[in-house]
Amino acid sequence: MKKFLSALLLSCGLAYGQNDIPTDYFSNPLDIKLVLSGNFGEMRSNHFHSGLDLKTQQREGLPVYAPADGYVSRINVQHYGYGKALYILHPNGYTTVYGHLRSFAGDIEKYVKDTQYSKETFELERFPDKTLLPVKKGDLIAYSGNTGGSGGPHLHFEIRDSSQRPMNPLLFGIEIPDTKKPIVSAVFAYPIGEDAHVNQGQNRTKLRLIKQKDGNYKAENITAFGKLGFGITTYDQQDGASNKNGSYKIETRFNGSEKFEVLFNKFAFSETRYLNRYTDYNYYKTNKSMVQKLFRESNNPLSIITKEDENGYITVQDSLQSIYTIEVNDFKGNRMYISVPIEGAELEILEPKDIVKTDDYIYADHATSITKGKFSIYIPANSLYEDTYLDIKDEGEVLKFHEDVIPIHSNISITADISAYNEADKDKLYIGRLNYKGLPYYTATTRSGDKLTARTRTFGSYTVAADTTAPKIKPVNFSEGKWISNQNFLKVKITDDLSGISSYRATINNKFILMEYDYKKDVLTYNFNDNINLETENNLKVIVIDNVGNSATFEAQFFRKQP
Ligand SMILES: [Zn+2]
Repeated sequence: MKKFLSALLLSCGLAYGQNDIPTDYFSNPLDIKLVLSGNFGEMRSNHFHSGLDLKTQQREGLPVYAPADGYVSRINVQHYGYGKALYILHPNGYTTVYGHLRSFAGDIEKYVKDTQYSKETFELERFPDKTLLPVKKGDLIAYSGNTGGSGGPHLHFEIRDSSQRPMNPLLFGIEIPDTKKPIVSAVFAYPIGEDAHVNQGQNRTKLRLIKQKDGNYKAENITAFGKLGFGITTYDQQDGASNKNGSYKIETRFNGSEKFEVLFNKFAFSETRYLNRYTDYNYYKTNKSMVQKLFRESNNPLSIITKEDENGYITVQDSLQSIYTIEVNDFKGNRMYISVPIEGAELEILEPKDIVKTDDYIYADHATSITKGKFSIYIPANSLYEDTYLDIKDEGEVLKFHEDVIPIHSNISITADISAYNEADKDKLYIGRLNYKGLPYYTATTRSGDKLTARTRTFGSYTVAADTTAPKIKPVNFSEGKWISNQNFLKVKITDDLSGISSYRATINNKFILMEYDYKKDVLTYNFNDNINLETENNLKVIVIDNVGNSATFEAQFFRKQP
């Protein structure tokens, strides 16, 4: 196994206690050259990425090695999220995490399978004590995969501190060659104050960037006045890969003095959803690109903001020339520099702030209840980041609950009165959010008498939908009554048209078998190596239940030669 080369941390001007961070303690968990398809802190939907995504040559099954001594402190197997995930606690207090694994290795795999068979479940979470599964540096611990919410084979690798806060693994000396400057693809100005403007407008303004000879950018001159903030879209690419990863550090200055710094060294999982406050959610939802706002608004506690003066805002005065600069660094210290020349002028506002007023103005720090037709909505205090007008309409069967252009931090509940439905149908109802095709996407719904309640963190159109169709179960690699002695796996496809799969259970000859669910392929897989004593003649039974309780049963007979 290769060791990480120690990174030249000094060149990066790192800002906090990294003197304590060991830079030669963890070795490479893969025995291939490390190439990143994702890096620490980069922006994902509703969260900051908490580790490195290590490319695995478009393959699954690469051996994963313990990067240092320690013991398996946690095992989590989920259909979604990290899929099969392993946590190793090291004697120096750091935990390393491995996600989207195809399988575990050796004693760890045996422990997981034994637990799955004894609990009769695929999904599980265990916290073994330190004596149960100790590991030595270099031990084979798992095989890389693509399980859970992974969009392609890779290893998700994390290093967490003793409080389980994810840290930037590059701080630990992991060497990723990078000689290219970060890219800044757009800069935006945000007039904030009531009398503030940019080029006589009060809405977000995209600035035209002019490339300079040295590769940096200068924005076209703007005329502005009052309190402003700025935002950027940026990404960084490392050598030998085209993936657009996150930039490491962003610093801003106004007339030479420091205004704001964002640094991706560490955060807490409890903060991660505030990404939706830090980025321009409306812009993301309408343009699919994340703008980082280089100022701190109310209800943004993010600790990645490491320096700020007046929350990063600037105040432009009449008749004064000033200059705002943004410096974006990657971990290797490659730097992109943008300057924005500003001409101060208190001018008439020609384009005032776009605000659509409605009857429903919501105070973010109050709880609010609203009833529209058969729907009622409860918005707990601090579910929203700021006071806002919401467009809420009862359109008969559909509740228009604004649009998904405003972020929701914590759950809002939507309740629907179903007393008008037939008694027999009530059990098959759920609250769904209409997707772009107009289909009601299942939202976790509970029923109490004639009330259905769903909890959601997404604005959009909601309706009461009925799912009266049972899931479908089809064999993939066998057929009824056939001999399949040479097959290693038994696969069935399971689908549900509306509310979605909630649970499943499979047996052979009435004994539980472990079937692993891959929701991305809609496939359940049984591995014949699991060593269940099979007969020559075997009866498979698979039961699948959807989210409103419709149940389907599939039975098939197959034959296998006795060993
Ligand atoms: Zn990842």
